Amino acid sequence: MERLDRFMARANTAYYATHDPYRDFTTSPEISQVFGEILGLWAAVTWRELGAPSPVLLVEAGPGRGTLMADALRAIARVAPDFHAALRLHLIETSPRLRALQAERLDATWHDTLDTLPDAPLLLLANEFLDALPIRQFVWRGEGWMERYVANGHWHEFPPPRCGGGREGAPPSAHQLHEVCEPALAFARTLAARLTQHPGAALIIDYGPEHSAPGDSLQAIRDGKPADPLSDPGSADLTAHVDFAAIGAAAGEAGARVHGPVPQGVFLTRLGLFQRTDRLAQAQPPAKALALIEAARRLAEPDRMGRLFKALALTSPGCPTPPGLE
Ligand code: SAH
Repeated sequence: MERLDRFMARANTAYYATHDPYRDFTTSPEISQVFGEILGLWAAVTWRELGAPSPVLLVEAGPGRGTLMADALRAIARVAPDFHAALRLHLIETSPRLRALQAERLDATWHDTLDTLPDAPLLLLANEFLDALPIRQFVWRGEGWMERYVANGHWHEFPPPRCGGGREGAPPSAHQLHEVCEPALAFARTLAARLTQHPGAALIIDYGPEHSAPGDSLQAIRDGKPADPLSDPGSADLTAHVDFAAIGAAAGEAGARVHGPVPQGVFLTRLGLFQRTDRLAQAQPPAKALALIEAARRLAEPDRMGRLFKALALTSPGCPTPPGLE
């Protein structure tokens, strides 16, 4: 018998250690090079707004195969060579397998968590990182909340511990099920505390609702298809929607300024997704040009990735609103 968050942590550690996740799913940086380029330019503009501190840490949490950062660094080198010279690359990654892939493309220092980053100004990027962190689930059973556990591929329920993570009070009106991602909240608080010590900003892009808690959003992808999250742990990627309201509140309480979230489509379009895509497309043969434009649409259109995905920024207190989050 295992509490859901412990089951999910174990399953995902095994999954990322043994699988190429990109055979099962794709992510925005793998869809279009313009995604990483725009995030790199966002970091460069924000760095200047922070007073161009040097040196500065450029940090990515959960860099996958390093595509986003490789695209970002190429764009930064071209348009902001002073930022390129000032930045020190640090990657937060627990999977040895993905670290090895990242090392083929990026010259960086690796960390398991935020805690070991040097004390310095920082710019942090995280795309589809928080959705991979383990959640707890609580279900309302008329009399009170029960917490969900897993054994042999089946759900079990027990009363939650009295103090700590347990749910208090009546169920929220929208859902009979409540999710809490404690490591995501801890990440937001640790990041916010750093932003109160040094100038900095973070851009978090992920999928989830803007205002409410997600409800039951646990999902598994195995061999590219939706699957039962409880069976055969380690063979599927387990994710849950990100609770942006809770992340923003935790970061705000810990002293950061919170900007957004705004839908990914709005964010990328404001920062020139289609202009940059058109410029790239003009230099390509027609089939490649069409593929580039189609990729940009996939990232931005509301009924595709444009609305479900959101961009949230955290900055040091007193910093102006970063580009794209107005
Ligand atoms: N950002 C990438 C990858 C998303 S997959 C992209 O957009 O393609 C999630 C990433 O987070 C993987 O690199 C995974 O190994 C990493 N990860 C998952 N849980 C983690 C944890 N607890 N600590 C650090 N990295 C983690």
